[in-house]
Amino acid sequence: MTNAQLLGILVLTCGAAGMAAANQHSASTGPLRVALTRLQAERARLEALEQAAGKRPSRRAIWYLDRLSTGLDAARDMVRRMVAPLPAGERAAAEPLPPAAHLLSIADVLRHEADSGKSCSATAMAGPLAGRRIVVDAGHGGKDQGATGICRRAGVEQFRLQEKDLTLDVAQRVADKLRQAGATVYMTRTSDETLDLYGRGIAGRVLEADAFVSIHFNYSVLSDPTPRGGRAVDGIDYTAIYVYSPSRRNLPMPGYSQQLEDRIRLDQPALSNRLAGHLFDRVSAAMGTSDAPPDAVRARMRAETARRARLARSRSKRTAAPEPSEESGSSEAPRAVDAPSAAQQRLHDRFYSRYPQSALPRGVRRSDFVVLRETHDKPSVLVETCFLGDSRQLTRLREPDRRDSVATALCQGLADYFRR
Ligand SMILES: [Zn+2]
Repeated sequence: MTNAQLLGILVLTCGAAGMAAANQHSASTGPLRVALTRLQAERARLEALEQAAGKRPSRRAIWYLDRLSTGLDAARDMVRRMVAPLPAGERAAAEPLPPAAHLLSIADVLRHEADSGKSCSATAMAGPLAGRRIVVDAGHGGKDQGATGICRRAGVEQFRLQEKDLTLDVAQRVADKLRQAGATVYMTRTSDETLDLYGRGIAGRVLEADAFVSIHFNYSVLSDPTPRGGRAVDGIDYTAIYVYSPSRRNLPMPGYSQQLEDRIRLDQPALSNRLAGHLFDRVSAAMGTSDAPPDAVRARMRAETARRARLARSRSKRTAAPEPSEESGSSEAPRAVDAPSAAQQRLHDRFYSRYPQSALPRGVRRSDFVVLRETHDKPSVLVETCFLGDSRQLTRLREPDRRDSVATALCQGLADYFRR
């Protein structure tokens, strides 16, 4: 029996047992009760699969079920806080995580610069956004710092901005504006905390999001100060909005019938692509960015990536230490030894014939990011707002007004999407 058959064979329905167990939680609000019930049902399904897979599972199948199991637990804690967040005072007391001492955090920046106020026109967006349920995911957080943008002048460091601080700042602004426009907003985090990647995506799907937006800032190997880099480089200033794409190596959605998986994987991208296109138009206009780096910079990026890959190979021969992944959102599954199943191959082929690269809106890219994959049928995007390696963008992002413009652009892109 192939892994695909093993994982796809068992389709359980959400039965009375799952409902009863979920009702034991003191869920006072509707969306929370529904989300917890769905999580309970998924947990039961996963446990049944784990038992079925217990005989001779592949390393890869065990790995994926294990990640999903952890993700379900994380999502349960997350949705409780997302739907009924703690008051600010309690949150601060429970999570006393200070920013790294040597970094200038957004909070420090805000202390020194006057915020000129919210410039978002809530009324213009109120129609299409009213009543929408939107999950806003501030990328990274806690121990996962994301990229570090270091602004230097004449070789002297001027200031640093940390991606996890920027994402939270922009996410808070987006949430405020969306709420002003009448949307129901769930934030995956409202403070500097470490979150499970699978939990973020799973929370998006069980909360029945009309849209899931993960906010990030990009960086490049050319400006990455970590392994033997450190050269600042300007001219990388493009925006990219990522949507999910299945690879042949993806494991099937555990516990889903092939028919249901096909429907989810083939229907959802139409919505995500359209949302991503609107977001790109608005964000790139707000940041003054294009959809790709200039050719010369792209050639340098390719050469540097190849150089680092060679370095990593020679280092791993000596130490056998794994290289850190470039973006924590990407899948890090163990390498598959099995060939893709016929069903997975068919899904892959149908996906690319229905959504050819040439048909993607401008600025939209595809990747198998965990947060996008695990939202399943919810329209979901990962926004790489701009590059932290570019000193011009860094200087702009230091201004609260600019961060507010990015937030407004994201809200406008969402309004454009819902307006249709
Ligand atoms: Zn990121």
